[in-house]
Amino acid sequence: MSNEIVVLGGGESGVGAARLAKLKGFNVFVSDSGKLSDKAKNVLTLNEIEWEEGSHNEERILVAAEVIKSPGIPENAALIQKIRAASISIISEIEFAYRYTSAKIIAITGSNGKTTTTMLCNHVFKRAGLNAEMAGNVGDSMAGMIADGDKDYLILELSSFQLDDIVEFKPDIAIILNITPDHLDRYDYDFEKYVNSKFQIIKNQGKEDVLIYNLDDPVIVKEIQKRNIPSKLYPFSILEKVEKGGYLENETIIINNKQQFTMSIHEIALKGRHNTYNTMASSIAGSLVNIRKETIKESLSDFQNIPHRLEFVSKVNGVEFYNDSKATNINSTWYALETIEGPLVWIVGGVDKGNDYSMISKMVSEKVNSIVCLGKDNKKIVDAFDDIVEPIEYALTAEEAVEKAYELARNGEKVLLSPACASFDLFESYEDRGDKFKKAVKAL
Ligand code: ADP
Repeated sequence: MSNEIVVLGGGESGVGAARLAKLKGFNVFVSDSGKLSDKAKNVLTLNEIEWEEGSHNEERILVAAEVIKSPGIPENAALIQKIRAASISIISEIEFAYRYTSAKIIAITGSNGKTTTTMLCNHVFKRAGLNAEMAGNVGDSMAGMIADGDKDYLILELSSFQLDDIVEFKPDIAIILNITPDHLDRYDYDFEKYVNSKFQIIKNQGKEDVLIYNLDDPVIVKEIQKRNIPSKLYPFSILEKVEKGGYLENETIIINNKQQFTMSIHEIALKGRHNTYNTMASSIAGSLVNIRKETIKESLSDFQNIPHRLEFVSKVNGVEFYNDSKATNINSTWYALETIEGPLVWIVGGVDKGNDYSMISKMVSEKVNSIVCLGKDNKKIVDAFDDIVEPIEYALTAEEAVEKAYELARNGEKVLLSPACASFDLFESYEDRGDKFKKAVKAL
């Protein structure tokens, strides 16, 4: 049998998988139909790993012992179909990496809040002095991390795409934060398929393992009722009390596990209802690995929020500016509008991934005094809000948007960039959009 592993896609996760496979003694070939970055080429060459870019050498790929597929490549790609027809096993980088670690795994998924919760968990675990590291969608790939040396705890941010091709991967602790429509283009516009993909996270769990989940999310609750799940269940909620898990009472978070601890939401660094969920999920995970409650509380209070997620930028002549450029769907924008006290000037727009604006129209009519559209095609936004918000203005650069918003904001109004859309019509990425916004605010 061939000893060759083919890695399809030479991004962060592909390069990590290739490095780990090489280290474990395989012949490795990386194939990318697009361009590889200079960094990727350097790392591969340094590790004596063969690669190609710009096309796929099918003859070579179709005799591989196994193929590791990057999460960006869709299942219906022609090459994937051919590999399946040749009965070659296709796995994800996560699955491959899992074979070579003995770390306890905390895996986090959801439609929104993955990065925040992963970073918060990582902060809590590190503060407790544990040999823990985060990987997955944030920072290094899981395989790259393991190639650099195994850890006691791996805290993984996993998107639905990364969960699609797992076989035996099993986290000791899985967290499902929420499931709302997103990326449906990759799931034949079938929400059920997207939900199933998120639930892959517990596919191999047994009764020793834990599922931490959002009890206020009807999609998750329905799915749990439907399935016979052996995992120990630790729900969190801000609407009802739970016996085991976490809940909110009188603005205080209560975590019930072996021991109980409480913490006022005013002492917590991350603000907003969505972050209360993220905080509860992380606290339960911390308590499950027996981190002292004092340590958990300290880390929750001094966690530094990450850029572009409801980030306070500055106050200019009484006008506060907030950057929530990472909000690329309706659900995350709903939480931003809920969290920041109105009245607001709202900067919204970009590439719509299938938004239903009626889901936030009540919130918008209560809190938003004016809108600045920052996108090329604003028709859906105008149709949704021109009856309830006046004025609506337009901008094609972050500078223009900031200047218009600043003019519209009477003293005491706040300016919120929470686009509910992807950024690619006018910017390179959501980071680029957020950075340009912050720069324009600082230049006022
Ligand atoms: P992800 O990694 O899942 O994209 P992030 O932590 O990067 O999530 O946050 C993305 C956006 O969603 C930000 O605008 C953030 O304020 C918002 N958000 C964070 N946590 C949640 C949550 N639990 N529910 C809804 N929205 C959230």
